[in-house]
Amino acid sequence: MIKCRKIAEKIKEADAILVGASNGFSITEGLNLFANNDRFHRLFGDFEQKYGIQNILQGFFFQWPTEQERWAFTSRLIFHYSCSYTGSPVMDALKKILSEAPYFIITSNGENHFELAGLDPAHILEIEGSWKEMRCNRGCHDTRYPTWTAVVRMTEKEKNGHVPTDLLPRCPKCGGPMTVNFQPKKVQIQAYQHFVEKYHNEKLLVLELGIGARNQLIKAPLMRLVDQEPEAFYITFNKGELYIPRGIQQKSMGVDGNLGEILPEIAELL
Ligand SMILES: [Zn+2]
Repeated sequence: MIKCRKIAEKIKEADAILVGASNGFSITEGLNLFANNDRFHRLFGDFEQKYGIQNILQGFFFQWPTEQERWAFTSRLIFHYSCSYTGSPVMDALKKILSEAPYFIITSNGENHFELAGLDPAHILEIEGSWKEMRCNRGCHDTRYPTWTAVVRMTEKEKNGHVPTDLLPRCPKCGGPMTVNFQPKKVQIQAYQHFVEKYHNEKLLVLELGIGARNQLIKAPLMRLVDQEPEAFYITFNKGELYIPRGIQQKSMGVDGNLGEILPEIAELL
């Protein structure tokens, strides 16, 4: 594809690369929070039959009758998609692209794949939090706690969609239930601001990977940044849902296609 050559050139010239990634990237890796597909049936068929939940997102926000059931679902999800993650071709391609320049990733994906794939956690902002952390569900204090050890134990001992009560994570301060953390960390927000300031007026390449056209959380701020930065260039990858505002069209490019095919093609050219 001619566009891939042009993109590879932009990557090689860039002083820094800022990646925005959302659901479309996860879906390319096989994790679809919205789909009632074969993977969902295989992993969560029992919950689907018993409670009628249709996809992962519904499971996250379902009013589970008990903590044993809530954590049975949650631990199975995190064990399968985070603890057992071994990478993907599209992630390998992204890593190769990011080896070309200093980078930062801003993502709404909570499953932690960028860090698990070996990208630097100091250069990642998880704007909707991370599944590897939990906090007090009553909000009695702000500290985040790691989830994985508890997740592995719960997954091992889960029976018929229930986790044994003694394995349920408890708040160390108030003894109340814990929940997966869906808030960004302050230190990550500061790291992002620092990155943007550091490459002010330089050739900043923004790669937007699989973010819906109406996304306000990542897409809107990235487009504003490109608008303000004189040397910035913006490339959006989205299958069937490209959107570039008129104000930044001169320094933008849209690629309508499958990330799983395009990113490896670009990485090959580097
Ligand atoms: Zn508490």
